[in-house]
Amino acid sequence: MRVTADREVCVGSGQCELLAPDVFEVDDDGAVRVLQEHPDAAAAVRDAVSQCPTGALSLAE
Ligand code: SF4
Repeated sequence: MRVTADREVCVGSGQCELLAPDVFEVDDDGAVRVLQEHPDAAAAVRDAVSQCPTGALSLAE
């Protein structure tokens, strides 16, 4: 599993960081940063991707 983020689309809501704090972080610019491109916490990451309000996160298997 590989996770990517489009920082141009992210609005910095922080939802992904709440769901998977080891994988996502909203940085000082107010946009998401992926901390683990190949995360272990698959279920939490899938939830974060599906619940992102702007569709900024993507998964590839
Ligand atoms: S949930 Fe989506 S919009 Fe919110 S911080 Fe994460 S990537 Fe950005």
